[in-house]
Amino acid sequence: MPSLHKGSCQCGAVRFEIAGEFEHFFLCHCGRCRKDTGSAHAANLFSSQANLTWLSGEKLVKTYRVPGSRHEKSFCTECGAAMPRQQTDGAMLVVPAGSLDTPVNRRPTAHIAMADRADWDNGLETVRKLEGMPG
Ligand SMILES: [Zn+2]
Ligand SMILES: [Zn+2]
Repeated sequence: MPSLHKGSCQCGAVRFEIAGEFEHFFLCHCGRCRKDTGSAHAANLFSSQANLTWLSGEKLVKTYRVPGSRHEKSFCTECGAAMPRQQTDGAMLVVPAGSLDTPVNRRPTAHIAMADRADWDNGLETVRKLEGMPG
């Protein structure tokens, strides 16, 4: 009985299911992933055997490839949220962890491309933490 994961985009037009297990979970700090996310790193789950099924909005999903590279990002063209993609080169299904609405029951495998991280991305675990928004 494979795991069934469910996800959606920010506007809710795109919904999907993924049946199967994830094998890797990488936090990638490379410059392209920082552009993709506008943040310190991407957080992507990888699977070589899981099956992706679009439940709605598949036509809204666009995949952009950085010219001259294998770096791709799929997103909802309505709201811009990161969406899963089947790699064009390679057998991996790549799923942005934040796109999932069901629990992610595994720890990240590793931080990768740390040599390329943002200049402010150092010792973030020691930065003050608030449970909610700043008042
Ligand atoms: Zn959307
Ligand atoms: Zn990256």
